[in-house]
Amino acid sequence: MDASADTIPAALLAWYDTQARTLPWRSPPGTPPPEPYRVWLSEVMLQQTTVAAVGPYFAKFLARWPTVLDLAAADDADVMAAWAGLGYYARARNLLACARAVAARGGVFPETEGELRQLPGLGAYTAAAVAAIAFGERAIVVDANVERVVARLFAIGEPLPAGRKAIRVRAEEITPAARAGDFAQAMMDLGATVCTTRNPRCLLCPLAEPCAARRQGAERFPVKPAKAAKPQRRGQAYWIERAGQVWLVQRPGTGMLGGMRALPDDGWSARGDGSGQGPLAGHWAPAGAVRHGFTHFDLDLQLMLYSGGDLDRLAADSGEWWPLDRIEEAGLPTLFAKAARLALAQQEDLGE
Ligand code: SF4
Repeated sequence: MDASADTIPAALLAWYDTQARTLPWRSPPGTPPPEPYRVWLSEVMLQQTTVAAVGPYFAKFLARWPTVLDLAAADDADVMAAWAGLGYYARARNLLACARAVAARGGVFPETEGELRQLPGLGAYTAAAVAAIAFGERAIVVDANVERVVARLFAIGEPLPAGRKAIRVRAEEITPAARAGDFAQAMMDLGATVCTTRNPRCLLCPLAEPCAARRQGAERFPVKPAKAAKPQRRGQAYWIERAGQVWLVQRPGTGMLGGMRALPDDGWSARGDGSGQGPLAGHWAPAGAVRHGFTHFDLDLQLMLYSGGDLDRLAADSGEWWPLDRIEEAGLPTLFAKAARLALAQQEDLGE
């Protein structure tokens, strides 16, 4: 066992004794736990919902249905209506099913994580939270806040989601046998108020001394999974020039870069290996490529220079001749502006 297994819970609980958030479903630090009904109701409401949003709903539910038996006896429609606005309505249906399962047990919640897990709609997190907070069981409570704090305390470098296993092992190591409920709530509070996702306040942190991430850049942890590589597409754009002008087209109104002025291209779905024919018969020479990242794919655009003479075949209604010395004013999107710069740079090189 790590030395931090002793130092972390003691330092955190001392901090919690003075800094605990005051929340309507909680008991103050070191005092007897709140009723299981309050703990369970708040934990279900807090799933995917902020503390600020839950507050008024928690008060409304408790005023209308003060016990789990009252809630179990409620009309489904009344409960759904009272839940309106909190979102994730499956939670309200599970809430009722669970209340009725507890009512079938005489209105008494089971006291262990394992038994709580058997109730309808109680996932691993909620069962652990209720077991720890309402019954003082040494359950391992890991929500997103706790996950972040533990990943930083131990500088766990394995990216999520695989890193969750190591996070859980470490969380288990530092969870004390005594005051397990206060410890769980203290970790949640530390994550919500000090060890925040951005700009963690390490100078105010009671765990700064044992924290491994503090000196390595706390925001690097937990390590996020690498983003999936974007698909690569290839295409060709065509540079057709005459007497100090270049042929530009208007892109179709819908689709990528819709309605914008651009170089003619092949639609970017071809392989773009530099051997294709452009919009005119004649000689085409590859002149390098530009790369551009769009939101959903990366594009490798091969620029092809035309050196034939068959310009009359360009239909006037499909494009326009644009003066090269005013190319900046054409409003070309970045991709085609890059391609134009490439073409013009080559001409300068040739002219030198
Ligand atoms: Fe989080 Fe900083 Fe505290 Fe480490 S020292 S637990 S990174 S707030």
